[in-house]
Amino acid sequence: MKSRAADGQDGRHVLVAGGAGFIGSHLVDALLARGARVVALDSLLTGRHDNLAHLAREPRFELVEADVTQPLPALPRFDRIFNLACAASPPHYQADPMHTMMTSVVGTNHLLERARADGARFLQASTSEVYGDPEVHPQTESYWGNVNPTGPRACYDEGKRSAETLVFDFERVHRLDVRVARIFNTYGPRMRADDGRVVSNVVCQALAGEPITVYGNGEQTRSFCYAADLVEGLMRLMDRETSPGGPVNLGNPREMTVAELVELVTRMTDTRSAVVRRPLPVDDPQRRRPDITRAQTLLGWSPQVPLEQGLEATIAWFAKEIRPPEPAARA
Ligand code: NAD
Ligand code: UDP
Repeated sequence: MKSRAADGQDGRHVLVAGGAGFIGSHLVDALLARGARVVALDSLLTGRHDNLAHLAREPRFELVEADVTQPLPALPRFDRIFNLACAASPPHYQADPMHTMMTSVVGTNHLLERARADGARFLQASTSEVYGDPEVHPQTESYWGNVNPTGPRACYDEGKRSAETLVFDFERVHRLDVRVARIFNTYGPRMRADDGRVVSNVVCQALAGEPITVYGNGEQTRSFCYAADLVEGLMRLMDRETSPGGPVNLGNPREMTVAELVELVTRMTDTRSAVVRRPLPVDDPQRRRPDITRAQTLLGWSPQVPLEQGLEATIAWFAKEIRPPEPAARA
């Protein structure tokens, strides 16, 4: 069996666009651990310096602040480019929908051109949102989706769909070596407390003893993947010597309702928080679960971290994040 370092990132020069974000910063850590030299390019729109603060003295790492919708700054040549740049939580990506769309379209084009100039392999972080409110369940990569192109989620969903189009056009027209990961709901440490997604909201509300917000009747489903599992999947997809020839779903197939998630977090945090109902957001998908047969077959990948274990780590992380340390006792 090949050693992990020999698998592909060792000594390579890797660009992670969106590297200061939640998933991006975990990916940066994993790449550095495997011997790569890494540049994180990020506008810090939703990403944070804090996510990368532990790398301040790492000679193989650099953070470049830039917005991918603008011409890219001068950078060294890369062997591999991961594009994770794009706000991912509905409140954040809807705050400036035009910028979200341009990030996926113009930004992805800039990074693809860069990969072409460098002869780099390119991986696009796509999303289960390309399936919209799916009529096929679980979602396979061959399903074309059910997206409302004019609704408030379209800036993200259609932006990501257009980015996929660009990526596969670069493959067809320029023979670029490309990969597309369709990422399903992912959670873990380094999510922002104000991220707005369900795991961070529910955990933070439970820890603070505040009302837990359930949108709609809570019967809508999602399937939650722990960040470390997801990052392993992204690296395997990038490492694969030959192109998989189409997108690959990465996510955890364990599906649950939002109400079940709330119940689990309530139990695990021992909170007294009550549940309050809020209106279901427009175009909120009713159910979502990845079919990961392709990832299992092509990458030998499947998630390893059970939800309870991942939530335990996430709860512990948020407990430190939202509760400032006690002031030192007075002498
Ligand atoms: P995140 O918001 O924490 O990370 C996104 C990063 O991109 C941030 O650091 C942000 O500052 C940066 N960014 C945004 N717009 C930019 C721009 N124009 N130029 C440069 N940098 C920019 O979100 P995340 O959860 O870590 O998601 C990372 C990627 O994975 C995103 O592309 C997202 O669409 C995709 N994804 C995430 C999930 C999930 O559940 N977390 C699910 C599906 C897809
Ligand atoms: N949701 C909820 N309470 C919250 C945040 C989200 O009930 O405080 C619901 C939301 O309506 C959706 C599900 O949880 O049905 C997942 O939402 P999230 O924003 O995490 O991800 P996405 O909708 O993009 O899958």
